[in-house]
Amino acid sequence: MTENKELTQLGKNIRKDFPFYKNNPNISYLDSAATSLVPRDVINKIIYYYESLGVSVHRGVYQLAAKTSEIYEDARKKIKHFLSAGSEYEIIFTRNTTEAINLIAYSFEKAKDELNELFSGWKGGLKTGDIVLISESEHHSNIIPWQIISERTGIKIKYIPIVKETGALDITAFNKIKNDLDDKDVKIISLAQVSNVTGIVYDLKPFISYAREKGSVFIVDGAQSVCHQKINLSDLSPDFFVFSAHKMLGPKGIGALCGKKEILNKMPVFLGGGDMILSVNKEKSTYNEIPYKFEAGTPNISAVFGFSAAIDYLEKIGLQNISDWEKKLTLYAMEKLSEINIQFFGPSLEQVKSNEFKKVGVVSFGINGIHPHDIGTLLDENNVCIRVGHHCCQLLMKAWDVPATCRASFYLYNDFEDVDNLINGLRKTIEFFGTHNS
Ligand code: PLP
Repeated sequence: MTENKELTQLGKNIRKDFPFYKNNPNISYLDSAATSLVPRDVINKIIYYYESLGVSVHRGVYQLAAKTSEIYEDARKKIKHFLSAGSEYEIIFTRNTTEAINLIAYSFEKAKDELNELFSGWKGGLKTGDIVLISESEHHSNIIPWQIISERTGIKIKYIPIVKETGALDITAFNKIKNDLDDKDVKIISLAQVSNVTGIVYDLKPFISYAREKGSVFIVDGAQSVCHQKINLSDLSPDFFVFSAHKMLGPKGIGALCGKKEILNKMPVFLGGGDMILSVNKEKSTYNEIPYKFEAGTPNISAVFGFSAAIDYLEKIGLQNISDWEKKLTLYAMEKLSEINIQFFGPSLEQVKSNEFKKVGVVSFGINGIHPHDIGTLLDENNVCIRVGHHCCQLLMKAWDVPATCRASFYLYNDFEDVDNLINGLRKTIEFFGTHNS
C-alpha cells in the first residue's frame, strides 16, 4: 500500500471529506469504536449505485446487471487485497461481525463429519464436553452465539481470564488452562484482535499456535482491528477473520467473513433461499459454490459499493498515517486525563508510552463517585459524544466489578481540540458533582 506522507496531519485537515462536520460543526465525536463517520466518497458511491444502476447482481443478462455484478465482485477482491489475504481465502458478505460469527457457529452446529479431514477430533461434529475457548473480554457477539450452540450441543465454553489491572488477556492463566484442557477436544478458539473497551492490540500468534497444536478452528474477531492497522492474514493465517464496514468508514449493515476456502467448502449452509442453490428439487436441492452458498437472497448491493469506497479512502490516507495520528491523540488524551481525577480501565499511561501495550485510539475511564451515565449526559451538554455503559462486554465489567465505564474513542478525523473539549467537559462534570454533593 502506498502511504501519502503529506497527510500525516489528519484531524481537522480531512474533515472537509466528512459531511457530518458540515452539519455538526461543534460536535466532538468520540464514539468511533461504536461506529465511524462516513466520508463523502462512500455516500457518493451508494448514491451512484441507486441513481445509475439500481439493479440486482448475478442473475441479469442485461448490461446494467453485468456492470453491477462486476463492481460487486470487485469489492470482494478489494477486501481480500486490503486484508493481504492470499488465494486460500474467500470473502462472504454478511450484515456485520455479529452475523459472521453466527454464520460460523450455526454451520458448525450442523456439521457432522465434514470438517474431520481438516481438523482432528471433528468426527461426528460438536459433542458434549468439547471446548470453545474465548476470553472474558470478548464482545457479546463473540460469546452469545457460542452459548446458544452450547445449549444445543453440550459443548462447554472456557474463558481466558483477564489481568484486572490492565484488562489484558492473562497469559499465565491461559498456560494453566492449556494444561487443564490437555485431554479435551478444543474445537474452536475465537478471540478479538483488539479489545473494544481497553483498545489493547493482541499478539494472537501464541493462541493460533495452540489452535494448530490442538487441531482447533481459529477465528479472529477483527471488528476493532481492521479499522486501525494493516491486517496481514497471510502472515497470521487464521481460519476466519470477521469484521464490519461501519467501523471503518463504511456503511452500516454490511460486513465480511474472510475464511479459508477449504473449510468454507465443507461447511454446511447457513441460510437457505435464492442465489445459494444450484438446482432445486422437491425432496432435496443442491447448493451453489462459495461464496454464494453463504449469501442467500438479494444482498445489500449499495452497502457493498460503499464498503469498497471506504477501503479506497482508507488506502488513500494510509493505515500507518491513521495509526500514528491516533497514537498521538491517545497519548495526549491519557496525559490530560491523568491530570484530573480519573481512573483508567486498561493499561496505564506509562504502559502505553513505553509500548508495553500496543493500543488503538480507545480509552476507557471512570471518575470516582460519578456514574458513567451522568458523565456521558453532562458531556453531551458540552457537545462531546462518548460512549458510556458496558460496551457489550458485561463479562469484562463483572471481572472489574463495575456496572459501566466511560469510553472515548478516536479516529482519523478527531483532533487535539476534541480531547480538550472532553477534558473541559469532564472538569465541569467534576465541578458540578462536587458542588452538587456538598
Ligand atoms: N466485536 C467487537 C470487538 C466489537 O467492538 C463489535 C462492535 O462494537 C462487534 C464485535 C460487533 O460488531 P457489529 O455490531 O458490527 O456486528
